[in-house]
Amino acid sequence: MSYNWCHGPNCHTQETQSRIRGSGDDKVLRTIKIKEGASYRGHERYNMFNYFCGQNCLMDYIREHLQAIIAIAPRREALETPIKVEKTKYDSWRYDYNDIEGRPQRVPYQATRTTIKSVDNG
Ligand SMILES: [Zn+2]
Repeated sequence: MSYNWCHGPNCHTQETQSRIRGSGDDKVLRTIKIKEGASYRGHERYNMFNYFCGQNCLMDYIREHLQAIIAIAPRREALETPIKVEKTKYDSWRYDYNDIEGRPQRVPYQATRTTIKSVDNG
């Protein structure tokens, strides 16, 4: 089984007992060591959490290296997904709060439902 050191740039500065190493007066806070492929809190670990001990370290890494990460696969144009939009009317209710008796009244009305349908362009 192989190991990775957490890639979070501030991992070794977080004051947790699990990071304390060394003996006597020679103690340090050390980056978390991650066993590759091990489960995390009983769940299969997401691939990226083989490299980060948690969400905070992942986000610290992204913040620090964002420009370099974006440079790997920059998006210079918008992407588009062909769809069909379907509008259907259906009976619904809304509440009218301006009733004379002061009690909200249920009032029927025609509502519109917008449905996005994917297009199979094989
Ligand atoms: Zn970490």
